[in-house]
Amino acid sequence: MLLHWSKKGVYCPEGDFYIDPKHPVQRALITHSHSDHVVKGCKVYVTAEENYYLLRLRLNKQARIETLKYGESRKINGIKVTFFPSGHILGASQILLEHHGQRWLITGDFKRHLDPTTPPFQVIHAEVLIMETTFGHPIYRWHSPEVIAKQIMQWWHDCQKQNRPAVLIGYSMGKLQRIQKMITPIGPILVHPIVAKVNASYKKTGVSLPLSFTFLHFNKIQEKLLNQSLVLLPTGVKMRIPSHASVAMASGWFQTTQGRSRIPLHQYFVLSDHADYYQLVQTIKDVAPEKVFLYHGMVNTFASFLKEHHAILAQPFELSSIIL
Ligand SMILES: [Zn+2]
Repeated sequence: MLLHWSKKGVYCPEGDFYIDPKHPVQRALITHSHSDHVVKGCKVYVTAEENYYLLRLRLNKQARIETLKYGESRKINGIKVTFFPSGHILGASQILLEHHGQRWLITGDFKRHLDPTTPPFQVIHAEVLIMETTFGHPIYRWHSPEVIAKQIMQWWHDCQKQNRPAVLIGYSMGKLQRIQKMITPIGPILVHPIVAKVNASYKKTGVSLPLSFTFLHFNKIQEKLLNQSLVLLPTGVKMRIPSHASVAMASGWFQTTQGRSRIPLHQYFVLSDHADYYQLVQTIKDVAPEKVFLYHGMVNTFASFLKEHHAILAQPFELSSIIL
């Protein structure tokens, strides 16, 4: 086994490095900069060049970050390491490890739909595939991003007609930048400072976004202007939203009534930066591995659907290779 599951995260003993570790380690390979994939305090971080500014947002100024271009290989203690685009958010990578003629591919978080803020998922062949399975149930089937973009535009348009601010909540890193790029502005775009910071990192990386204005309090904005605006707020932020606003959120979990019932909103958009069930299955077929391991999300559910409907055997990565 080239990669193992350990308490600190996915570990490569021969290369002596971790992938997205949960605790500080000597050398961390980072697939992308969502907060659950980055821990402070590692000695060295290795990541894709496009992830540099986003990773910098999560770390101390002194943190040592080494970057690789997509497709560029580097040997780490004899293991050949290459990052390839995973299409999840800007700078997100799958990581390919090569050793003694064997290729191990770990997907990190990924999606197959096109996203104008990041290069598309690249199909890489490997003998061993370790794949995330956030949405590993057939109920999760995404509409094309164009359909969702139209829904968002229609909602914003309706809000303007009713003189209501269109308040859209989503992940501040990735989701909200993707939405800004998917739509054609029909009024001002107002963004919370957290979103503005991430926007700035996207721009520094070379991804252009529509013009937006940073704000902190709703009562500081002229009402006439606010009622024509699309307001982008990060998930989890505590803010008093005007009572006449229409509040929406974008997430893959809204595919089910159960998912929607958890959060009362005026509008739900089913938009995810993860692969849906069908894209997960297609990815296994495309990578054509001899062995499949699953991690993150609906591991057991997906494994049983794979076996029953596609005659593909897959194991939970966590159970097959644990190091304590
Ligand atoms: Zn992620």
